Amino acid sequence: MKIIAANFKTNHTRKSTNIFVNNINTFLEDENISNDVYIFPPATALDNFDIKSNLIVGAQNAYCVKNGSFTGEIGTEQLEEFDIKTILIGHSERRHVLGESQKEIALKYNYYKALGYRIVYCVGEPLEVKQSGLTETLGYIWEQFDGIDLDYDNLVLAYEPVWAIGTGVVAEIEDIRTIHKKIKKKIQKPLLYGGSVKPANLSDILDIPNVDGALIGTASWIEEDFKTMIKISKDK
Ligand code: PEP
Repeated sequence: MKIIAANFKTNHTRKSTNIFVNNINTFLEDENISNDVYIFPPATALDNFDIKSNLIVGAQNAYCVKNGSFTGEIGTEQLEEFDIKTILIGHSERRHVLGESQKEIALKYNYYKALGYRIVYCVGEPLEVKQSGLTETLGYIWEQFDGIDLDYDNLVLAYEPVWAIGTGVVAEIEDIRTIHKKIKKKIQKPLLYGGSVKPANLSDILDIPNVDGALIGTASWIEEDFKTMIKISKDK
């Protein structure tokens, strides 16, 4: 069984998210899809959706706090209003664009772990690290597990090479196979691949051993494409 996850990033409105989530919910029921499907909309679009299928709506980010004076952030009071119990932590854009350190990421991880959230935890190397070789790449990835409890029951991992995210450049099948095998050997948790996944390449990626699903940004924002990818995952 595979997991197919959509990361909307800073795309879609409250209105368009509502339509999207409702349509995917109906689609999963109509098509008898038993794979888990996650959608991470922007925080302003979180809501009490009427979900009857195995669709899970999660938060792209939140602060390590219930509530308080943290301008611009949201905490668990805001998430729990909508029964959100799934969160993305360590996404490359939070690490490399928003400057979250491993220490801050581990604090966030431990906070949400203590509350029992399902955590989709992302790791992946920048291009210059990949170009330095496999040993450097794995060393970089292992450092992204510093402070992270890998025995946590409600943990899903995502390997997302930074150079493949939002660039249209997808990693070679062999690269994905190698890194997933190494990570899986060390950590026996569901392991998604992310980085320019789209309808045209999803099937081949899901066929790689140790790939338990996909975390999809750009190609997930168009409902028809996301449905196509969910359908592709059905028989995997
Ligand atoms: C992502 O945001 O996690 C991602 C993989 O993005 P994209 O599919 O656009 O590369």
